Amino acid sequence: MSRQHRKRDKRPTDPFKPLGNETRLEILRTLYDHRQTVSVTSDQLPYSTLRERVGVEDKGNFNYHLRQLREQFIEEGPDGYRLTFAGFEIAKVIDMDAWRSHEERGPVSLANGYGGDGAEEAGMVGVVSGETDSNHDTSLTAVYEDSVVKIRRGEATLFAHAVRPAGAAGREMSALLEVASTLWRHTIEQILEGICPYCHTTVERSLTIESDGPWEYSFAANCPECGSLGGSHVGTALLNHPAVVSFYWDHGIDVRDRRFWEFSFIGDEAVTVLDEEPLELRIDLELDGDQLAVVIDDDVCVVDTDRSGSLV
Ligand SMILES: [Zn+2]
Repeated sequence: MSRQHRKRDKRPTDPFKPLGNETRLEILRTLYDHRQTVSVTSDQLPYSTLRERVGVEDKGNFNYHLRQLREQFIEEGPDGYRLTFAGFEIAKVIDMDAWRSHEERGPVSLANGYGGDGAEEAGMVGVVSGETDSNHDTSLTAVYEDSVVKIRRGEATLFAHAVRPAGAAGREMSALLEVASTLWRHTIEQILEGICPYCHTTVERSLTIESDGPWEYSFAANCPECGSLGGSHVGTALLNHPAVVSFYWDHGIDVRDRRFWEFSFIGDEAVTVLDEEPLELRIDLELDGDQLAVVIDDDVCVVDTDRSGSLV
């Protein structure tokens, strides 16, 4: 039996079935609201208070609904009822209005460093327009659709990261791009540490060379529970590496202040194949005449760095 089939067998037939009732949702909301006002260690609500706040007079009816939620979404402690971890997760999603539709934005051009923080001012040459390449159109655009910020070159989507509608609602496109860039950096960091951003299971990674994708040199991540987590250009694996962070820092650049798609090392031009079996790649970075070479193995781990130039 395949892993996918085993996983399906473990799953409850319908985890949302107990939630298909307004009274039960109100119980979750009430316990969630209570949890927000007290400390985690005293988050229980006595039975009588809970019933009063939910507004159900009939004890038998109320007890029935409590039973439907018990074990999975709520539990009883010495001082009353509280949300389980799963109950808290569900109530949180409902509370932050995650189901509402998002407002589409864009497309906007990222030419000349949309938002006034272009990479060229720091001496970087990269995927931002300004670089001329007769082989392909290097101008980037950004769009927010289906609750996902997408960075595109022509028709090809180079990067995509979800930003929840509530987080997008109060932000201009420029600020939304900052958020997407930061979330991306954090997601990549988790994946490189072997942690699935969704379920925290151990992630497997693989390095690939493809001629027909948006990138020639990329890596993919796969979670045994969630399935494919997508992939990215191999250069994004450098975003959080200390040698890279300090290289930029020594040249007066805090990598956290830059949108990651502005970095020249996130592009196939920066990549050299050192070995095919097992696959080993070198990524070259250059700033103001100084160089940093970073070697990545087929597990997408940095295995060597070599820095040269005036600031060494
Ligand atoms: Zn997962």
